[in-house]
Formats: sequence, C-alpha cells, structure tokens
Amino acid sequence: MQIYENYSVKEHNTFKMDVCCARFVCVEHPEEVRQLAKQGLFQSEHFILGGGSNVLFTQDYAGTVIHPVFKGMEVMEETDDDVLLRVAAGEEWEHLQQFCLQHQLYGIENLIGIPGLVGSAPVQNIGAYGVEVKDSIARVEGLRTDTLQPFALSNTQCHFGYRDSIFKRELKHKCFITHVIFRLSKREHYTLTYKALNAELDRCGMKPSLQNITDCILRVRNSKLPDISKIGCAGSFFKNPVLTQAEFEQLQQTFPDLVSYPAEEGHVKLSAGQLIEKAGWKGRRNDDAGVYDKQALVLVNYGMATPQEIVSLCQQVIDDVNKLFGVTLAPEVNIL
Ligand SMILES: Cc1cc2nc3c(=O)[nH]c(=O)nc-3n(C[C@H](O)[C@H](O)[C@H](O)COP(=O)(O)OP(=O)(O)OC[C@H]3O[C@@H](n4cnc5c(N)ncnc54)[C@H](O)[C@@H]3O)c2cc1C
Repeated sequence: MQIYENYSVKEHNTFKMDVCCARFVCVEHPEEVRQLAKQGLFQSEHFILGGGSNVLFTQDYAGTVIHPVFKGMEVMEETDDDVLLRVAAGEEWEHLQQFCLQHQLYGIENLIGIPGLVGSAPVQNIGAYGVEVKDSIARVEGLRTDTLQPFALSNTQCHFGYRDSIFKRELKHKCFITHVIFRLSKREHYTLTYKALNAELDRCGMKPSLQNITDCILRVRNSKLPDISKIGCAGSFFKNPVLTQAEFEQLQQTFPDLVSYPAEEGHVKLSAGQLIEKAGWKGRRNDDAGVYDKQALVLVNYGMATPQEIVSLCQQVIDDVNKLFGVTLAPEVNIL
C-alpha cells in the first residue's frame, strides 16, 4: 500500500475541491484492508474514497482517507443463462461496462457513463435510464470496520432502495466493500422504459443492441452533463423527491405540468431538476459556483468555487424550491 501524509485530494474528487487530508492510503490488495484493521486504522477517523464522484469535501479532513485501487474480475459461475462475476472494489465502473460489452453480458448497459469505482456502486444503488444496479447485484462482500469481521450480504440483505442501501444507513461508515458479485445475463434483453433513450434510438434509426444502447446513452449524457475533465461537479446534486400520491395530487392543482415518475406503492417521484428550474435556478451562478445550464440537478464548480460557495448555493436552491413547492430537496452527494 502507498501512504501519503498531508495529501491534497483535488485529483481524487470530481468537484475538484483542493482540500487536504492528514493521511491518504492507497490500498493495493484486498488483504491490506485486514492489515489496516489490525493496525487499528478503522478505530480512528477515516473515510473510504472511491473515484470521488459523489462527494463534496467542504474542509480539510483530519483523518485518513482510504482509497481502494485493487482490481480484478473473476467469473465464478456460468450457465447458459447468466454469469456470476466477482469484481474488485477498485475496478473502474467504466472498465466493467467495457467487459460486459465485449462479452455480451446484459443488465447494466443503461448505467454506462457513470463515473466512479465498482466498490461504490452498491452504496447509493446507482441508477440511470430506468435501471438500478441492484437488479444485477447478487452479493456484496467486504470487511466490517466496526467488528473487523468479514461480511457477505445477499441482494435482499443490502436493503436497496432509490439511491439508497444499507451502506448509507445501518452500515454507514461501518464497512469496507472489497468485492461486488454481479449476476449478468447472457440472454439478450433490454430495459427501454426511459423516454429519452427510446427517442434517441428512434432518432438514429437504431435497433436496440448493447453497442447501440451504449452509444445512445453516452450521446444523451454528454449533451446534458458537464465534462468532468473541464467542469467540476458530482453529477446530480439532489435526489428526486418522493411524495405520497395524495401530496402529489395536491401539488398538481397548483402546478399541473409537474413531471412525475413511478415510485414505491402509493408514492410518486418528482423531477428535482424541474423544481429547481421552475424556482429560477437553472443556469444561474454565484461567481464560480453554479447550477448547470443544461441540467438544473447538477451543481458545478466553474473553476475557483470554494466548498463554502457550493454549500451556500445548495442551501439557496433548497430554500427557494421549498418556498415555491413546499418540497425539501435532499442532497444525493456525500457532504464531508
Ligand atoms: C458527471 C457525473 C454523472 C453521474 N451520473 C450518475 C448517474 O447517472 N447515476 C448515479 O446513480 N450516480 C451518478 N453519479 C454519481 C457517482 O458517479 C456515483 O454515485 C458513483 O457510484 C460514485 O462512485 P465513486 O467511486 O466516485 O464513489 P465516491 O464518491 O468516492 O464515494 C461515494 C460513497 O461511497 C462510499 N464508498 C466508496 N467506496 C467504498 C468501499 N469500497 N466501501 C465502502 N464504502 C465505499 C464512500 O465512502 C462514499 O460515501 C454521477 C457523477 C458524476 C460526476
């Protein structure tokens, strides 16, 4: 493992916040997680950082940032129907996508273009274009950092929900995910429930295939989301709020054009982006902290924004949406 003292995490977070941590540890092998545990590292202040695409560092971090870089993909089982693939936490999500494309494995193609590492994917149950990663996860393995015991949680035990899982709740800051075991289908099937994806396939005259879906989604994403090599951001800053059907119908009386998506029974998911846009924030900026002009759900650092400026912008957006709709937006991003 590599250990650095007083280390800037600027290149390890997509918001490009130039803050320092007291110690930065690159974990190069899953066995090193156990070693760190034996050294008592998990008893002191620490944060596990993947690709840093879902975090906002707001100040220097006094503890140890632990960054898994160990890689590996192993086929554990294969039938005529599917493949059980064990993937190490430090693999780039993009690399897994390429592997699936190359080997014609179906299930996670709609999640193409999401930055970050495989070990982080179950944490917020990443989702896009009508698909959530939970539908392809068989098991999550790792080490409990509180009890120092290994764990293996089945899909059901992970308590996946919308941008949610046990790793954001009961097990928050209590486990180091070392491997994610995916069940990926060998049978051709697609999720085409998302209007923008169908529209792009139609526009290009393309039939659904892994390659065509990948190309279409990347095109749509690139047209709406900032290029993180140029503009700092952490993707959707807020979760789409979920209301009860009754609350939604009441709100609809004042705002009949509100967009809604199906959610768990008796509930409706609103578009946080639409609420922010209607509150007048789309494309607005306070110096270098802004609301992206092509997608209001994304808060951006145009270059020199400080963490405090992003936090203050976040609060202004929450307040204005609340004043207009009586709905409180919750950040999707982990604010540290
Ligand atoms: C441009 C852009 C587009 C995005 N689009 C989407 C999208 O479409 N859908 C979506 O769901 N998300 C999206 N995101 C958010 C983000 O990419 C995902 O949440 C991604 O899974 C985060 O991965 P990461 O490795 O960067 O995690 P990090 O930001 O490093 O960490 C996220 C959380 O996971 C925890 N964590 C990380 N690794 C481990 C581990 N090994 N064990 C235990 N805990 C761990 C961290 O402590 C932290 O709480 C987007 C972000 C950007 C910048």
